[in-house]
Amino acid sequence: MTTKRIAVVENVLSANDRLAEDNRRLLDSARVFALNIMASPGAGKTSLIEQTVQRLAAELRVGVIEGDLATSIDAERAEAAGAVSVQINTGGNCHLEAPMVRDALAQLPLNEMDLLIIENVGNLVCPAGWKLGTHLNVLVASVPEGADKPYKYPSMYNDVDILVVNKIDLLPYVTFDMDFFKRGVEILNPGVTTFPLSCRTGEGLDAWLNWLKTSVADFRSTR
Ligand code: MG
Ligand code: ZN
Repeated sequence: MTTKRIAVVENVLSANDRLAEDNRRLLDSARVFALNIMASPGAGKTSLIEQTVQRLAAELRVGVIEGDLATSIDAERAEAAGAVSVQINTGGNCHLEAPMVRDALAQLPLNEMDLLIIENVGNLVCPAGWKLGTHLNVLVASVPEGADKPYKYPSMYNDVDILVVNKIDLLPYVTFDMDFFKRGVEILNPGVTTFPLSCRTGEGLDAWLNWLKTSVADFRSTR
């Protein structure tokens, strides 16, 4: 009984992974560099996307796929910032899956884009286990969440390529032991590229934007 259940889950995952590979091929052939942004609810994923789209609008053509349980609030924010965007309402599903992204990609002008940012559903548990076809996984942590998150959600911290630590402007006002946080990150994901920043004040955003511009340029020059 137990074995059977596990086999079914593995089949679903490998079907997802195959579709994720199709998504990746589609993005590669359109020369679109793609990020999967994950975080808990309220960490500032949409704020980071807004700032990124606004500040790069003169240099990069950005598309955004917004994943939420309900509403199109975040897609409207991304559009207002200057991106072309598609909203996925997962209807209760707590993470995005590759078929949802495939359907959203069909609605985007990929050949007129340089960068795709996918905002996953706010959740620190299962999004890490579902490949979407993006080139990099980005985790947005935030200071008010507390410094214990790497220890409590190791599978998420383990897997990501880039770590953003948002809301650093709040460090003087909340208890956040940065050394404890960094030690946890270092155990799970040694040397992960990290950008401490504040979407509200703009502090630290330039380092993130410069890294992103370089990454997009490097990616496009090899294809
Ligand atoms: Mg959001
Ligand atoms: Zn989930």
